[in-house]
Amino acid sequence: MPQQTGEATLVLIKPDGIKKSLTGNILTKLSETRFIIVGAKVVRVTTKLAEAHYQHLKDKPFFPDLIKYIQGKPYGPQYERVFALVYKGPGAIPKIREMAGATNPEEADSVSIRGAYGRITTKGVFENVIHASSSPEDAEREIKLWFSPEEIVGDLYPTKKVTLPAREVLEWA
Ligand code: UDP
Ligand code: MG
Repeated sequence: MPQQTGEATLVLIKPDGIKKSLTGNILTKLSETRFIIVGAKVVRVTTKLAEAHYQHLKDKPFFPDLIKYIQGKPYGPQYERVFALVYKGPGAIPKIREMAGATNPEEADSVSIRGAYGRITTKGVFENVIHASSSPEDAEREIKLWFSPEEIVGDLYPTKKVTLPAREVLEWA
């Protein structure tokens, strides 16, 4: 049975995962958990979003390269995107984290996603193919950063109604 309850976790298929054509492979692997997908979209990552997502690493020497990496800058315009997903189910945070594997792809279990597909670049950035939230606090912060309530199927966190001033939006012509 698909899991309808439980906690939610953010997964990003990073630009190297997209470039290596691993999207289908990763989705198949994650589908074996029976967790349900409650949000999914392709995102062109702004510098602001990248810096907010990785705020805990802002003092690290690799931070500038990390920001370029998550934006896909090293790979060319067609790879400047990530596939963002929210999975929900009991134990989704630790389970998907375990399937992702350790941060350093050389230390990750060889059958984990990062262990199987990750690499360390000559600049020292861990290109590890996938992001997975590491704690309930991180998951909530990250999901709220990447998704609006309207992009999530079902309820995750409390919401409020706000009226926005008139603004221009794009519609199909
Ligand atoms: N990272 C890196 N070198 C490090 C630590 C982290 O290149 O020494 C990169 C790597 O891509 C990692 C991301 O920064 O996935 C976020 O780091 P974090 O410590 O949050 O690891 P994660 O939660 O992704 O396992
Ligand atoms: Mg982390």
